[in-house]
Amino acid sequence: MSWKDKLRQVEPYVAGEQPKLENMIKLNTNENPYGPSEHVKTVLNSIDTDHIRLYPNSDADELRHALAVYHGLDDDQVFLGNGSDEVLALSFLTFFNGDDPVLFPNISYSFYPVYCDLFKMSYRQVLLNEDFTININDFHQSNSGIIFPNPNAPTGLLLSLDAIEQILKNNQDSMVIVDEAYIDFGGQTCVSLIRKFENLIVIQTFSKSRSFAGARLGVALGNKEAIAHLYDVKNSFNSYPIDYITQQIALASVLDSQDMKEKCQRIIRTRERVKVQLKDLGFIVPDSYANFVFVSHPQIDGQQLFLALRKAGIIVRHWQQPLIDQYLRITIGTDEQMDRLIAFISQYLKEQGAVTK
Ligand SMILES: *Cc1c(COP(=O)(O)O)cnc(C)c1O
Repeated sequence: MSWKDKLRQVEPYVAGEQPKLENMIKLNTNENPYGPSEHVKTVLNSIDTDHIRLYPNSDADELRHALAVYHGLDDDQVFLGNGSDEVLALSFLTFFNGDDPVLFPNISYSFYPVYCDLFKMSYRQVLLNEDFTININDFHQSNSGIIFPNPNAPTGLLLSLDAIEQILKNNQDSMVIVDEAYIDFGGQTCVSLIRKFENLIVIQTFSKSRSFAGARLGVALGNKEAIAHLYDVKNSFNSYPIDYITQQIALASVLDSQDMKEKCQRIIRTRERVKVQLKDLGFIVPDSYANFVFVSHPQIDGQQLFLALRKAGIIVRHWQQPLIDQYLRITIGTDEQMDRLIAFISQYLKEQGAVTK
């Protein structure tokens, strides 16, 4: 016997790389190119270091209230955590405790199977259609819980509120978690369904639309009783997941949500013209509602294009996985960054002799 016989051995999630290359164009982890509101800067610059000496408010009450007002909910319907990855982990732990498998799409956020393995939950990956759309009837089978991103990652495809309502109706005996990491980029949030369905939890993040990836804040929204159970689990794990500084600057971000909406509109405009340009170059471009596009080219190898881009200092995301190994996920950056991406790809396609419009 050794300590190794008592290990909890897991295969961890691998995040997109954060390389340090000069003049690189970083389009691989869906960060927001425009940064947070000016109010965030003002608040950050005025932080009194005496607050760092003290423990923060454990449930971030002031921020929680501001978010409740923003979403039209009560304070006790809002839960906060250290990034939505932590909120997701705590939600799996709280809600997915049956004997049946947890269900999620086979092409989806690759952290979900990692949490299932970590917590020793069984799961079943529900197959998407060939065009990456979700067939909602496939989520009508026994389960211990359901989770999917909307828009889905990394495809960017959006499910309608009607479709989500149908999934909720078909699964009233288990919790359905909708991961809305990208909802501010043109989708319709399903927060309004919380009033109608007590088996719904909506998870959002400040990382993408609010440019807070480096500060770490995630949110869960749901009925009061479910959220109270989530707090019980959180308080059995970490009483202070959100530091004082993040609480203050996140509050400034919520109070200036107009700034976030304007920056998202800019990203949406850039995304829509990049979709057209990539289609003109012969790419297959699923209709993304997120701050990225997921694209493949019938005449060009995905891995080769990924490596060529990298050599040119343009970092995108590629998975060497069946079904999606010909696809690249490209974050929508500034207009100038996207111009350089398109210019490089046009030239590359010419050199490879690919036919374009
Ligand atoms: C980025 C992302 C998250 C995690 O966001 P953090 O708040 O930065 O932890 C969760 N779900 C999906 C689908 C994401 O793409």
